Amino acid sequence: MSEERPVGPVDGARVPRFAGPATFARLPRRDEVGAVDIGVVGVPFDSGVSYRPGARFGPAAVREGSRLLRPYHPGLDVAPFDVRQVADCGDIACNPFDIPEALAAVEAGAGELMDAGARLVTIGGDHTIALALLRAVTARRGPVALLHFDAHLDTWDTYFGAPTTHGTPFRRAFEENLLDTGHLAHVGIRGPLYGKSDLVDDLRMGFGIVSAMDVQDRGVPEVVAGLRERVGDAPLYISVDIDVLDPAHAPGTGTPEAGGLTSRELLAILRGLRDCDIVGADVVEVAPAYDHAEITAIAASHVAYDLISIMA
Ligand code: MN
Ligand code: MN
Repeated sequence: MSEERPVGPVDGARVPRFAGPATFARLPRRDEVGAVDIGVVGVPFDSGVSYRPGARFGPAAVREGSRLLRPYHPGLDVAPFDVRQVADCGDIACNPFDIPEALAAVEAGAGELMDAGARLVTIGGDHTIALALLRAVTARRGPVALLHFDAHLDTWDTYFGAPTTHGTPFRRAFEENLLDTGHLAHVGIRGPLYGKSDLVDDLRMGFGIVSAMDVQDRGVPEVVAGLRERVGDAPLYISVDIDVLDPAHAPGTGTPEAGGLTSRELLAILRGLRDCDIVGADVVEVAPAYDHAEITAIAASHVAYDLISIMA
């Protein structure tokens, strides 16, 4: 962390929140500050989707939806932008026609920011990008614990023969030894699968599953206690597919499934992880073309804000 007092967001009492360019939470850009402690970076990439496209527009939508975020988080009693230099690091541009090349660009772009000292909260983009982000994190920190919030397992093998899609990042990460397999869990899983073997494969990789129904049945405190125990002291990466939320809370996404978490449940679980050693996080799969009244973009912006706050 730098010696100087962090540069904060534009003052909402001086410039109305609906005015000016939309950086995340109206934070300064990377080039407007010194060393960045926590960087928000966009990855406008959706060439790995299997159903509805459009998450390439997610970073811009989440920035727009973040205009109303204020600097003090009462739930966590922290003013994250006061205690850490948080900045909007822009977008990592990547090739929409070549998935391996795009992932290499994401890994390089994220790695450059990490080497400059930043922990990243990445805004997707589809979930394929998590593989590149895990490659970048693991190259610097070794294999990481993973809490994966999603309706879907994302540990499938191939789709139409393609190994690298938004349904496969965590199987590839497992195969590449990016994951600390004693400390893995999915949260919010629901919906039909291709077959029971999906669960067998997933268990073999070491994942525990907290289903959406488990959140309902056990309640947030018990779920948090279980996740804390599973993660332990391991460096933790948190990946949030916004479709973990019920479509009532996040309609603007590519593969919606009924029966999901409320935004309140998700935020409460994240807040319970504040003592973890969080090395990075992402919020992915916001597809604004299917959104209404910025419901999904606002939810995603609050998820990102809570991730920054528990990292601060
Ligand atoms: Mn999903
Ligand atoms: Mn996903």
